Amino acid sequence: MNYVPFGDLGFDVSRLGFGMMRLPTVSDEQGKTVIDRPEAIRMLRYAIDHGLSYVDTAYPYHGGESEIVTGLALKDGYRERVTLTTKLPQWLVKEHADMDKFLDEQLKKLDVPHVDFYLLHALDREAFHKLQRLDYKSFIKRAKADGRVKHIGFSFHDEHEVFREIVDDYDGWELAQIQLNYLDDEYQAGESGMRYAGERGINIVVMEPLRGGALANPPQSVRAMMEENGRHYSPVEWAFRYAGDFAEVKTILSGMHTMEQVKDNLDVFSRVAVGSLSERDRGFIRELKEAYLKRIAIGCTRCEYCQPCPQGVLIPRIFAAVNEAFMFEDDSRFSNPYRQIVKEQGDAARCVACGQCESVCPQQLPIIRLLQDAAARA
Ligand code: SF4
Ligand code: SF4
Repeated sequence: MNYVPFGDLGFDVSRLGFGMMRLPTVSDEQGKTVIDRPEAIRMLRYAIDHGLSYVDTAYPYHGGESEIVTGLALKDGYRERVTLTTKLPQWLVKEHADMDKFLDEQLKKLDVPHVDFYLLHALDREAFHKLQRLDYKSFIKRAKADGRVKHIGFSFHDEHEVFREIVDDYDGWELAQIQLNYLDDEYQAGESGMRYAGERGINIVVMEPLRGGALANPPQSVRAMMEENGRHYSPVEWAFRYAGDFAEVKTILSGMHTMEQVKDNLDVFSRVAVGSLSERDRGFIRELKEAYLKRIAIGCTRCEYCQPCPQGVLIPRIFAAVNEAFMFEDDSRFSNPYRQIVKEQGDAARCVACGQCESVCPQQLPIIRLLQDAAARA
């Protein structure tokens, strides 16, 4: 396992972190899906015994069960061996006092007196402005002063400019958790956001380094490129090496689901180190990205000029789902998000072919026909 100093916070951290959101599950007596607790605990302890030192959970993971299982796994002396992070479920926060209420509830579930990092979870523009109105800074000040929280940060999902706004709003951030992988190097905060935060002394934790597992299972054409490359890295290793190459990135979260994945990730992270990619490797990663992008079926740039559609059709999201399915040769990458789109009453079948969207689309996409294709696919 490779380690780096956690910025200037005075301790080191393993480059691999355990994301406690995709733990193994079983059905309970009522047929409800719950965490397979003995196996999850075995996996986390095995990882810690083999050098992992960063554990990331959150209020909603596994329907609230993740924090409880994390707390159980960290008994018997394991808590002292890790940096423990959980997150404020900001979408449930209605008033200032809710922030203290959730933190206290989470400490109880984890059965610990404090966490090392407390993150404001999944900030976007709207969520952040709400927390500003509710005076998040005085909550942070109080939680740090009374020792419930050692360090503070946020996790992020929005446009790059919002990321900068959040970074600039508070000089006490110690961690920013961002989505970063070689397909999403310019998405949301992206590499430029990582550098912006890094220059201001904010430590970066990477989530979705495998893009929800998709980069571990590339289409045949991408797999063939990797096999021909002299390095013979696995798809997982290329993805981890991309994120692990940046000095700003302190630890990389992997949502491990099986013991086999734990062992494989630990093995890869014995080699992932800052600056370990050569210029040629970086060029090859750009080629991998290009190979994925070439598989994009619809050239929608998600500019949203076509929104809102008078019928409520969520055009950019439908096209993104179609593209994901093509890119990864995996139909579920269309059908799963599409189910949600149907639930939100924004599906392609609602289109009445009024033509409004086509008249404003800068890419001049034949939107009506493409929506018909998507509806037929559903
Ligand atoms: S053509 Fe269809 S998708 Fe486009 S604006 Fe009209 S109803 Fe909406
Ligand atoms: S206007 Fe065109 S490019 Fe922009 S989001 Fe809509 S479909 Fe995509």
